[in-house]
Amino acid sequence: MAQQQHEHATTVVEQGRFCLARCTCGWRGPARRARSKARSDADDHVGAHTG
Ligand SMILES: [Zn+2]
Repeated sequence: MAQQQHEHATTVVEQGRFCLARCTCGWRGPARRARSKARSDADDHVGAHTG
């Protein structure tokens, strides 16, 4: 299920008091207060691309 392509390598970064997901393709998720939410955004992003 969780296939990762090297062109969509996501990471969660902290920005101030928030966390957000970033991807090597240039995509950025919305700022989240919870790191788990940011990781969920990253999963959605990768899933959307791998279909
Ligand atoms: Zn991506």
